[in-house]
Amino acid sequence: MDNVFDFLTKKRAFQVKETVGTPVYIYDEKGLRRAAEEVLHFPHAFGYRARYAMKANSNAYILRLFNNLGLHFDASSGYEAERALLARIEGKKIQITAQEYPANLKDLIQQGVLFNASSCRQLERYGKDFPGSAVSVRINPGIGSGHNNRTNVGGLSSSFGIWHEWIPNVRVIAEKYGLKITKLHTHIGSGSDPKTWQRVVDMSLQAVREFPDVKTLNLGGGYKVARNPAEKTTDLQVIGQSVKEAFKAFYTETGRKLDLEIEPGTYLVAASGILLAQVMDKIPTGKEGYTFLKLDTGMNDLTRTTLYGSVHPVKVYPAGEKKLEKKEKVVIVGHCCESGDIFTPAPGDPEGIQPLELPEVQVGDLLALGVAGAYCASMSLTNYNSFPQIPEVLITSDGNMKLLRKRQTVQNMVALECDKELRVESGE
Ligand SMILES: *Cc1c(COP(=O)(O)O)cnc(C)c1O
Repeated sequence: MDNVFDFLTKKRAFQVKETVGTPVYIYDEKGLRRAAEEVLHFPHAFGYRARYAMKANSNAYILRLFNNLGLHFDASSGYEAERALLARIEGKKIQITAQEYPANLKDLIQQGVLFNASSCRQLERYGKDFPGSAVSVRINPGIGSGHNNRTNVGGLSSSFGIWHEWIPNVRVIAEKYGLKITKLHTHIGSGSDPKTWQRVVDMSLQAVREFPDVKTLNLGGGYKVARNPAEKTTDLQVIGQSVKEAFKAFYTETGRKLDLEIEPGTYLVAASGILLAQVMDKIPTGKEGYTFLKLDTGMNDLTRTTLYGSVHPVKVYPAGEKKLEKKEKVVIVGHCCESGDIFTPAPGDPEGIQPLELPEVQVGDLLALGVAGAYCASMSLTNYNSFPQIPEVLITSDGNMKLLRKRQTVQNMVALECDKELRVESGE
């Protein structure tokens, strides 16, 4: 896994510490561009469009970088679509797939934003708000393969999308409001296994048969990136080839040439991010116990470990010139007043502890958590223990550095707090 730290040399790590301080997210522009090119070259039979699932990392600079390279966008709420518009992304390049029907949808639709209905109730509301228009629907085709229940977004235990047995009801609603269903969407988080993807495509095409107006099939995201040696990165060419064959076969059979859409989040950004922190303390708990390394970051900045038990690779950048070859087993913990704030869990068990062997670490050394570009900065907890939201730095393709987001101040943190009378018509 060492190559995921290649873009951050020791010299660069200490430069970032000197200029911006720690903790800090550091991104690699070269890696972001490389991943975008791979996604843009996903094999396809007919038309093709790739969306970036911006919830993975919603920094405006990254949105604009991907926009310039030709990616479109998937927004997971009305607010997220608004955020993309603020980053100067054109409305027509943004599609919303949300658990919550956006309160500002009318305004967004006026700006060209597209909508993907994720439940029959959403479709009904959309029909009332925009009768006679074209719309996409998200179907839950009945399989899923996320690595645990918290990341599984298809199948019986997932609330995402319209359960496939309700397709007749979708047609009833569409007819009632004169809606034309032109796109079908099935994001089930399929992982890296080509066989699973094949099943997803087959089941999705099965659903397309039931909608004669559908011109586009969107297969969602879920292209896994290895975050530790036990995991496997998806080969987009392999997956894409079988998708392409399936689309061709569908054409031979039905005479329908479908456009393909995919919308990766993780794949585009995960490997191009590092969370850089400083070791602040070292706490032994005796012979039977552990050696804890305490960082100046924690679950507030990188929540995935606490949430899913996901294990991120670790690299030490020693402060001194020389490093002892001596190894030690350590438990890496964060700075929050929570016993669950831990970065070395037993894999898949957020409450377990699995010490990690590292070169002997001193207080003052820098420690990096790798593959932290997706669902890290964007999923951070806001101000627990009043720790500020942390800065984001980009290492540009030409080897310079850019600040993409400043460190929050305590003034920022309390800026919205107030003491304001709320007047109602008839008070008690
Ligand atoms: C989160 C999400 C994605 C991206 O998923 P990844 O696993 O990050 O690739 C794509 N589409 C939808 C609708 C999503 O909610």
